[in-house]
Amino acid sequence: MTTFLAFGEARDGELRNLSFETIAAAKQIDENAEVVGVVLADQNTENLANDMIQYGADRAVVVEHDDLKEYTSDAYTQAAMAVIEEEDPDGIVMGHTSAGKDLSPRLANKLDSGLVSDITNVDGGEFVRPIYSGKAFEKKTVKDGLTFVTIRPNNIPPFEKDENRSGDVNTLEVDIKDIRTIIKDVVRKASEGVDLSEANIIVAGGRGVKSEEGFEPLYELADELGAAVGASRGACDAGYCDYSLQIGQTGKVVTPDLYIAVGISGAIQHLAGMSNSKVIVAINKDAEANIFNVADYGIVGDLFDVVPKLTEEIKAL
Ligand SMILES: Cc1cc2nc3c(=O)[nH]c(=O)nc-3n(C[C@H](O)[C@H](O)[C@H](O)COP(=O)(O)OP(=O)(O)OC[C@H]3O[C@@H](n4cnc5c(N)ncnc54)[C@H](O)[C@@H]3O)c2cc1C
Repeated sequence: MTTFLAFGEARDGELRNLSFETIAAAKQIDENAEVVGVVLADQNTENLANDMIQYGADRAVVVEHDDLKEYTSDAYTQAAMAVIEEEDPDGIVMGHTSAGKDLSPRLANKLDSGLVSDITNVDGGEFVRPIYSGKAFEKKTVKDGLTFVTIRPNNIPPFEKDENRSGDVNTLEVDIKDIRTIIKDVVRKASEGVDLSEANIIVAGGRGVKSEEGFEPLYELADELGAAVGASRGACDAGYCDYSLQIGQTGKVVTPDLYIAVGISGAIQHLAGMSNSKVIVAINKDAEANIFNVADYGIVGDLFDVVPKLTEEIKAL
């Protein structure tokens, strides 16, 4: 039987959704594989390991260490390598997140392995990944050696949680040393509300919102929908919102079920971050705006009229 490691990602003592997507992805790659959930964290690892199992992992391996509180390349590489050496897996799946993007090539290099990064789908043994900022897709296969992939968050649906599932949890002691980076403090700018990169619904504002206050109707709509608020670079550059909200080529890449673009023209660099969203709604007063070329539904109108009306309608539902 083959063994796949599915790396979870913990933040503040909880697992991000993406952790459970890695388990489903591993099973999609090889339905007969034994999937081992991996948790690297500074606290609560036993519970997190059980979460991995309840979301479909067959068993779990954890490393709990104070140096794993925040992501650092040195500490996480050492912890992950210890797990990989212990398990000698046939495959590894991790998230294509900020941490995963840093960690996966380091590990691939140490393992002398290939790496298929940022996949959005597993299609009969082939890995589908967007290229050229989402304008095309390529398919890759791994012919021999370790199957090592990173998955784009929010594309591969996780299994339902089954609270009756149980499995072994193995705790590895790892002597983490020679750390060259110390994180003294983390200031999270967009800590309120739903995490943008994992949100199922995003309401994004562009330069059309005209001011910081202009974002208010978008926050009200987002509250009603349980959505995260994002932005174009135009809105960030104009100082209407923080750069942590920026979506696009030089911002976050998102694939929510529903993306509502408000007062965003649809520049190619913005589309690079959101055009793979499942349903796109555009609100823009210019009927010729490029965003309508990628939108499934378009509303031509003044956002300051349309957005509050939409919020009222959703409240009424
Ligand atoms: C190297 C590089 C990287 C970049 N990376 C990114 C990136 O990651 N993300 C990104 O977004 N951009 C990026 N850009 C910038 C990008 O080219 C555009 O300049 C930017 O996306 C424009 O933002 P916008 O659509 O909000 O503004 P605009 O292009 O100014 O569009 C504003 C829109 O609002 C509409 N509007 C105005 N008032 C109203 C109203 N009252 N009601 C309804 N609609 C209204 C207008 O019709 C217009 O379509 C990058 C550019 C470069 C060169």
